[in-house]
Amino acid sequence: MSVRVFKRSGAVLSLSLLAWALPVQAEPLRVVSSFSILHDMVREIGGDKVAASVIVPANGDAHSFEPRPSDAKTLASAQLLVINGLDFEAWLPRLQQSAGYRGPQVVAAQGVDALAFAGQDEHVEHGHGDSHDHGHSHDHGHDHDHGHESAKQVVGEPAHEHSHGSQDPHAWQSPTQAQVYIRNISQGLAAADPANADYYRTRAQEYAQRVQQLDQSVKARLQAIPVEQRKVITSHDAFAYLGKAYDISFIALMGVSSQAEPSARDIAKVIEQARRENIHAIFVENTVNPRLVEQVARETGAKVGGTLYSDALGKPGSGADTYLGMMKWNTDKLIEALQP
Ligand SMILES: [Zn+2]
Repeated sequence: MSVRVFKRSGAVLSLSLLAWALPVQAEPLRVVSSFSILHDMVREIGGDKVAASVIVPANGDAHSFEPRPSDAKTLASAQLLVINGLDFEAWLPRLQQSAGYRGPQVVAAQGVDALAFAGQDEHVEHGHGDSHDHGHSHDHGHDHDHGHESAKQVVGEPAHEHSHGSQDPHAWQSPTQAQVYIRNISQGLAAADPANADYYRTRAQEYAQRVQQLDQSVKARLQAIPVEQRKVITSHDAFAYLGKAYDISFIALMGVSSQAEPSARDIAKVIEQARRENIHAIFVENTVNPRLVEQVARETGAKVGGTLYSDALGKPGSGADTYLGMMKWNTDKLIEALQP
């Protein structure tokens, strides 16, 4: 009897026999990261042994994120969850609950040299330079300064009450602290998938070296810029770790959360400081509404120096679509804007 008689079922049979006869091809480890920067690190370290997905995507603001039902589905199928920690992902506990996720979790920032943030809902200066003035009174949300655009109008969103911890979560902005992230992620992958532990370790070592090389080249290039001139105005207080790494003072209009609303008075203070200290490096951020920063630039006659990537990578092709690309982009733009 001809085999052709069984054409259709025979094809299925021979395929399944083939799969059975071949050595088992391990499925890639399903890793879900809370936001795009961790997602990229997981891909760098995990290579083709992981199937990586992300909850807060490129250009997404993790501070104000609200998970969708599809995120619960993504998390429910994960074998490993990678988060930042330091109270960055305020929305995560609820998502974990709705997803029923009880699997292992890597806290990437675990063990970093965490920075405390000095004040809530107010701009904070970091690094070298000026004395801090945290003594002024606050009247958030009660400003009715009709002569200017008030903070409320500019932000254009109702105030969210966000509770956050006492430590600044944005540690990935320091290449030194990023080494801690790389180690934690590598160890987490190895623990979840011991068969490929060596693979992850090797890739993590190579990746850590590339991060270190970028760090060294930034330090070398910054030497041409006097420390007292390294002052930058940004939207939200995401760059304290970067500031500490490179002796740059960042003056942020908002607090550590992009949801904190500065009062018109807070904004006026930054404008005053920018004029007094001749600060001409002013940047918008990819995850924050640019209007407040544009207002400061307008009123001080400075030009916005471009976009810094704070809490998320850029879209593919932006140049900031990887962690290393983002760090290179940010430091290139800063060095350019800070030239004497
Ligand atoms: Zn942030």
